[in-house]
Amino acid sequence: MAVVSEMMKESIEQGSLIRQMFDLGIKLKQQYGEENVLDFSLGNPDLPPPPVVQEAMADLAKNLNRPASLGYMQNAGFAWALEALAEELSKEQGVGLSRFDVMLSCGAAGAMNAFFHSVLERDDEVLAFTPYFGEYKFYVRNHGGILKTVPTREDFMPDFDALEKSITPKTRALIINSPNNPTGVIYSEGVLKKLVAILESASKKNGRPVYLVSDEPYRYLAYDNCQVPSVLPLYTYAVVISSFSKKYGIAGERIGYLAVSPEIEDKELLMGACIMSNRILGFVNPPVVGQYLMKAALGSSTENALSVYAKRREIFCDILDNAGIEYQKPMGAFYIFPKAPDGDDELFIKCLQEEKILGVSGKGFGLAGYIRLCYAVEERVIEKSREGFKRAADKARS
Ligand code: PLP
Repeated sequence: MAVVSEMMKESIEQGSLIRQMFDLGIKLKQQYGEENVLDFSLGNPDLPPPPVVQEAMADLAKNLNRPASLGYMQNAGFAWALEALAEELSKEQGVGLSRFDVMLSCGAAGAMNAFFHSVLERDDEVLAFTPYFGEYKFYVRNHGGILKTVPTREDFMPDFDALEKSITPKTRALIINSPNNPTGVIYSEGVLKKLVAILESASKKNGRPVYLVSDEPYRYLAYDNCQVPSVLPLYTYAVVISSFSKKYGIAGERIGYLAVSPEIEDKELLMGACIMSNRILGFVNPPVVGQYLMKAALGSSTENALSVYAKRREIFCDILDNAGIEYQKPMGAFYIFPKAPDGDDELFIKCLQEEKILGVSGKGFGLAGYIRLCYAVEERVIEKSREGFKRAADKARS
């Protein structure tokens, strides 16, 4: 007898390869000891939150005796938290945002679900360039949509012709993610402008907005002074979705947000729909504690994190060079997406597992032949993997 829906069965089967590897990591660590498993599978930031977060938590604890101190609030978040967020995002995105242009959510994942819940009709298509963060498929499908992938060029930059060919009357949005998980690429303003031109013309043709959903939780991690241009000044139908999961190391606290262009028509209706979705999807409102932590952390320097990850990136590149593995040096984020020797990512993942090294097959990101490695991991763990990578690559080639 069918205890779950067919769609859920399918989702479980397709599963998230990242989560599967995370679970395997836990199992292997129990078996061989924490120190002996070199786990580069999950993007769980390992740096502590800024010290102000610890102070904010202590202050909050002192005030918990106030009535309803951990109670519900407006479904978009506390007014003071939205105001602080809007002020910060106005600086970051280069447009004047008010608290009515932003909504707080349970992580970027929650914001994306609330947005798609608000704008998708059944069987609407949402486009994403491969490789992409595998969870997008589920976030779109949760709300009756279909994720359609669009190939990128060899350097993982958008293939504009392929994008134009993928657009149909059903196209509702394009998701971009820069700095990118898993490739680390960052789109220049020139690239964004070309994407916008294509979406503008598609919106006109379709007679409804084709949104540009910019998922940017890694905006703070751009190496070598690379700039991450903002989409809001470029396109009326741009929506920024992000979180403080990675930036302030509070992924488990689930604080994310969405921000729309202040110029979008029917803004109140769109924001009202997203806020309603926040509520009826069962998130109800963003977490209370997370909002206090966010408020305290806003504006904290991320320079230290940037230099820590930049160093790890260099070490990882050196290890891959030493093993003769091809890769494109990431411009941002904390992932690297090398080619599997001989092009067989599953075989390479197996060879790495024999060395107790965990990565994720490119198939989890819609692109076979590559693997994703996350360097949100201590430097000494990365160093320890050097010989293992070499042996695994030699074995995969033989
Ligand atoms: N988008 C991308 C590209 C991610 O890598 C992640 C998390 O790994 C998310 C969204 C979800 O982030 P959050 O923890 O804020 O929901």
